[in-house]
Amino acid sequence: MVAAAPPEHSAPHKKKLVRRAPPDRSQALRRTFQLAFLALNVWIAAQFYLFVRYYETGGRGVPASRPAGIEGWLPIASLMNLKAFLATGELPRMHAAGLFLLLAFVGMSWVFRKSFCGWLCPVGTISEYLWRAGERIFKRTFRLPRGLDLALRSLKYLLMGLFLYAVASMSAVAIRAFLDGPYGIVADVKMLNFFRYLGATGLAVMVLLVAASLLVQNFWCRYLCPYGALMGILSLASPLRIRRDPDLCIDCSKCAKACPSALPVDRLVTIRSAECTGCLQCVAECPAAGALLMSGPKRKAAPAWAFAAGVAAIFLAAYAVAQATGHWSTNLSERVYFDLIPHANEFTHP
Ligand code: SF4
Ligand code: SF4
Repeated sequence: MVAAAPPEHSAPHKKKLVRRAPPDRSQALRRTFQLAFLALNVWIAAQFYLFVRYYETGGRGVPASRPAGIEGWLPIASLMNLKAFLATGELPRMHAAGLFLLLAFVGMSWVFRKSFCGWLCPVGTISEYLWRAGERIFKRTFRLPRGLDLALRSLKYLLMGLFLYAVASMSAVAIRAFLDGPYGIVADVKMLNFFRYLGATGLAVMVLLVAASLLVQNFWCRYLCPYGALMGILSLASPLRIRRDPDLCIDCSKCAKACPSALPVDRLVTIRSAECTGCLQCVAECPAAGALLMSGPKRKAAPAWAFAAGVAAIFLAAYAVAQATGHWSTNLSERVYFDLIPHANEFTHP
């Protein structure tokens, strides 16, 4: 009697895991960047508060110079300056540092995907710490149903479109008149005052956002941030992408579970999505050598240190050019600030 041969392909072929050798340090590096940038922004906010108090109190507070970095928080003024610069070729007098910061973040997105969101943005950092805290409290994070998720995700693009349309429809002359007028000069003070004198509605919105951010990963960034939406669109041109090698991948799905943008990393070969922040959390979790990389078109890997160095280089280059050309600080006389800052809330949008 001859025994029957086992049927071919009776069980799926299980791929052999070739483990990655060195420990992955990308997340330690990314957290260092995030916390350093958060600390920088806390310092900028404290310095700016002292600056505003000095002029509000008629010079009786602690003298403090105006930190130009506050203009990173004026994205619409920066967009206006970009439009005027493109139309006239002239760099602005007011809030020019914001324009250089915007150009730096645009450059980063172009090369290093939406790295501004995943590596630098202080709001993104706070969002990330909130959902991690929520995960510890509730032992899980929540994903919205696909239809609702898609509908909400379109909100940030809608907001981005509205802002771009509003800025694009202004002439360079109108932009200069707006930014050089009293409202434009104290736009940053008005923003500070918004948070200082948060009314009941503003407070309720903040509480809701914090609650939603505890439950849903990166709630603000995923659904509402128009700045992130703009960076995401620009990042589509980035040559760097997360690329998976199906031959080396062992189909463990750890990458997809780790992705805070809920991208199906384990099923795609290349991640092209505008939602990818280049956070490298998927790569950090992948156990298989060479299976998942942030790389260029020829699968030339961009290691985390090179990615981080590139992000830092673009940021520092924008700062250095602005300083060298005398466009980092907005130079106005003390008289202007003494006259305008105490009345900042009286200026209405022209
Ligand atoms: S695909 Fe990877 S790099 Fe992109 S957002 Fe997801 S975890 Fe981060
Ligand atoms: S983490 Fe993702 S890419 Fe890496 S082996 Fe698992 S499924 Fe494949």
